Amino acid sequence: MIRIALVGIGKIAVDQHVPAILASSDWDLAATVSRHGFVEGIPAHDDLGRLLAGRPDIRVVSLCLPPVPRFAAAAAALNAGRHVMLEKPPGATLSECHALEALARRHRVALYATWHSREAAGVAAARDWLSDRTLRRLHVTWKEDVRRWHPGQDWIRQPGGLGVFDPGINALSIVTSILPEPIHVTRAELEVPANWQTPIAARLDFHHPGGAEVRADLDFRSRADVWTIEAETDAGTMVLSEGGARLTVDGVEQAHGPNREYPRLYANMTRLVAEGGIDMDLAPMRHVADALALGARHPVAAFDI
Ligand code: NAP
Repeated sequence: MIRIALVGIGKIAVDQHVPAILASSDWDLAATVSRHGFVEGIPAHDDLGRLLAGRPDIRVVSLCLPPVPRFAAAAAALNAGRHVMLEKPPGATLSECHALEALARRHRVALYATWHSREAAGVAAARDWLSDRTLRRLHVTWKEDVRRWHPGQDWIRQPGGLGVFDPGINALSIVTSILPEPIHVTRAELEVPANWQTPIAARLDFHHPGGAEVRADLDFRSRADVWTIEAETDAGTMVLSEGGARLTVDGVEQAHGPNREYPRLYANMTRLVAEGGIDMDLAPMRHVADALALGARHPVAAFDI
């Protein structure tokens, strides 16, 4: 078993990482690092530097912090010779992510920028289905209620918090993994509440090399969760819904296994640790950075989380 420390015991650590690690025979949850959070029965620390100095037996550090504090923690772990797994997005900026990759190479340790939505049950089948068809139109609709999914998470509206791109980057992680061709943002309309530094809604248009219409509609003010990618091709239409868990082709349900996003991420990390490999695909983040660079900002009413 590989000893692992989990850093940032908040919503996603408790909802997904802890159950995935505890259920796996590959992993031993050996410590947590968090100022307030802890996991019953697991040694709890509040300072990563002290953990790295005092627990040389812990070979892997998995970071579940929000994006802005992530870089300092990841750099400390890599400099201490530990393998590192990053929640999405892998950093607050692209340059940070490139710096982490260089550090991992220098120290010859594994580094994994995880994209949990890519592991959803229908994604691989969607990729296969699209691989030999001609795309005409792809439309992302990614809408959810920020108050339900991110209660009290002030970081999401602060600089570096990404706003609606925090869930939206999950859609982009799927799109960049299922489309055979590269796309890029050509236009972005961003709605920014008076009390936010980040957009609460976004509408994106993309260039597609084959001339297909590619669009994304993201909104954090929706009462209903809609996490859907619809692709119309020369040979039928596929709909990936429920965040990638469900796939239909021309209305017919496609068979696939259970949705096991986080167990699959940890299985991928087991392989990377064995190889000392680096999996640092930054394509989803590049599209978000481009949307923020190109985006027209439209002020909207203040919105409290
Ligand atoms: P969260 O609960 O707000 O934060 C996780 C923990 O990080 C907090 O409990 C806090 O623990 C620590 N933390 C928060 N701000 C910090 C800061 N400025 N400096 C140091 N530590 C800080 O957030 P989350 O929802 O778990 O999200 C964390 C990451 O997971 C994000 O990148 C998010 O995109 C991703 N994610 C979230 C979800 C979801 O459903 N929420 C789903 C998939 C991925 P202590 O106070 O105990 O130190």
